[in-house]
Amino acid sequence: MEKKITILDKTFSLSINNDQITAAVDSIAQRLNRDLKDLKEEVIFVGILNGSFMFVSDLFKKINFLCRITFLKLASYSGTQSTGTIKSLIGINENLKNKIVVVLEDIVDSGETLENIVYQLRNFEPAAIKIVTLLFKSEAYKKDIKIDYVGIKIPNNFVVGYGLDYNGYGRNLTEIYSLTK
Ligand code: 5GP
Ligand code: MG
Repeated sequence: MEKKITILDKTFSLSINNDQITAAVDSIAQRLNRDLKDLKEEVIFVGILNGSFMFVSDLFKKINFLCRITFLKLASYSGTQSTGTIKSLIGINENLKNKIVVVLEDIVDSGETLENIVYQLRNFEPAAIKIVTLLFKSEAYKKDIKIDYVGIKIPNNFVVGYGLDYNGYGRNLTEIYSLTK
């Protein structure tokens, strides 16, 4: 029977189980290990909080070359002008110049957030920026930035679990659930 859960006012059904998540994380780790070991530039992983914390934790344990990791957060704050919210990337206290920066995202939807992150990271003059996402809503993606490593392509439907939230809840679920219509 289909596994269902309720969070607040919404019902979700199991969409990606533990084995599928593990396989996707393994596959990404293998590709990263193959592509990024033995580069002359230093590699630094950058996890985008909050949603990516569980993915990053599992993935990073499987990386087998010398590298570092840091975490960034996109802070939304109301600007002093009336033109809505500005999102600035907070937490960069590493020197990213001339390094290979590997962005670790939980999910890419329209790509708006990713584009914002990449534009801000470019200011630090890294040698290259590589993009990794566990989940990719390919039908919703509207941007040109190349996503170098995709774990699982998913339909354009809201998901929770494995770090991803619904109004702050559901991040502790070990599997990924999608909103039932
Ligand atoms: P984008 O800017 O690509 O449209 O959306 C990216 C951000 O929106 C993600 O980092 C995530 O915070 C949120 N998001 C997009 N789709 C989902 C989803 O299906 N579930 C959850 N929990 N968050 C999502
Ligand atoms: Mg995210």
